[in-house]
Amino acid sequence: MPHLPLANIPYASLPLWMGSTPLQEAQQPLWVLVGLPYDGTTSYRPGARFAPAALREASWGLETYAPLWHRELGEDVAYADGGDLELPPGNRDECLARMAAAANAVLEAGHHWLGLGGEHLVTLPAFNAHLLRYPDIAILHFDAHADLREDFMGEALSHATVLRRCVEQITPERYVQVGIRSGTPQEWAWMREHNTLLPSDEASMAASIAEAKRRLGNRPVYLTIDLDVLDPSILPGTGTPEPGGLSYDQLQRWLLGLRGLNVVGADVVELSPPYDTSEVSTVVAAKVVRDVLMLVAA
Ligand code: MN
Ligand code: MN
Repeated sequence: MPHLPLANIPYASLPLWMGSTPLQEAQQPLWVLVGLPYDGTTSYRPGARFAPAALREASWGLETYAPLWHRELGEDVAYADGGDLELPPGNRDECLARMAAAANAVLEAGHHWLGLGGEHLVTLPAFNAHLLRYPDIAILHFDAHADLREDFMGEALSHATVLRRCVEQITPERYVQVGIRSGTPQEWAWMREHNTLLPSDEASMAASIAEAKRRLGNRPVYLTIDLDVLDPSILPGTGTPEPGGLSYDQLQRWLLGLRGLNVVGADVVELSPPYDTSEVSTVVAAKVVRDVLMLVAA
């Protein structure tokens, strides 16, 4: 296999877990984890730029074997750590351009993208790269917040508008939301009009998982997990905590239940280590990343 056109993605000095394949030795399509240390549009508590490095360190405290999945990273799950992008602070458009270039390079090389935010705006350049290659792509969005604002304080590109910028390029029938519990009247009216939000209470979980799979079918799916979908008692280390969310166990059961979906790209965003004084949020986030790898990787 030729060397991959990923020279702009530096190696991680401390890779996630021990089972990762060095990217340039890849003999097969891999899920490539790319750290996106960007929090330039965070509206409340910044700090998500520190998440990729914190996730790397926390990952070494978690086993590579996931018993509920009966799978082990590196053995059954092929992935590589592509390191972190270098993103110029204060220049949103250049940051987005570099993220788009990296996502395009990963996909061009035949690999899959697993972005590690950073705040939620990092989803937009990655989603756009996928949309170019998968015109019928759908979005599965876990979050406390709708992120469907038309603009935020006049800004069209923000972590509060990011899913609006994605979904306006497809149709609402190809968009499924889980865990949303915060938004403007306009966002709630849009969600009701298009029936995009599935109930995420315990009693509805099995039916909601089945409904998500029915709606998404065999389409290529971009999976985006904003970690504030979890209750702040479980993950306080995030920029915009919103009480009333899923437990870790519920999120893991969602992901276990989604096996069989055609997930072609994904990201996990909005961990903010400066607000994680116990460092437990970071461990939870690393385990969610491990769950996503278990779900998506061959
Ligand atoms: Mn959120
Ligand atoms: Mn979000």
